[in-house]
Order: sequence, then C-alpha cells, then structure tokens
Amino acid sequence: MLLKLLIIGALLYAIYRFFGGRILADKRDSIDSNDNSQDSETLVECSECSTYVVKKDAIYYRGKWYCSQECLSKA
Ligand SMILES: [Zn+2]
Repeated sequence: MLLKLLIIGALLYAIYRFFGGRILADKRDSIDSNDNSQDSETLVECSECSTYVVKKDAIYYRGKWYCSQECLSKA
C-alpha cells in the first residue's frame, strides 16, 4: 500500500514537473527584447545605385529603398 502511494506521488510529481517546465519555457520564448535594435542594423539595397545602406538611414518610398534623397528623385 505504501509503495503504491509512493508510485502515485512520483507520477504526480513527474507530471507537475513536466507541465511546469513547459509553461516556464513558453514564457521565456515569448520574450523578444532585441527585435527593434536588430532591425535598425539591417542593410537594404538602394534600388537606384545598388548601394547598401543601414535601414535607419535609408529612405523607403513606394515599396523600394533608396540610399539618399538624390537617388529617390532620380527614380
Ligand atoms: Zn542610391
């Protein structure tokens, strides 16, 4: 009888650890803190002169990227 209780207890503990661990892992995965900082470092190609510029310095116009106002006016 005591052995049965120990087995049931061990099983319940294993189930608790399994689901508890999964819930904690899901919470950790959902945190994406450095998403915005990565985006500003992304290089984009100017559709006019094919120069690669950092996304934050590039100009986005009508679905295309431009390195400068000059290239934008040429397009
Ligand atoms: Zn350009």
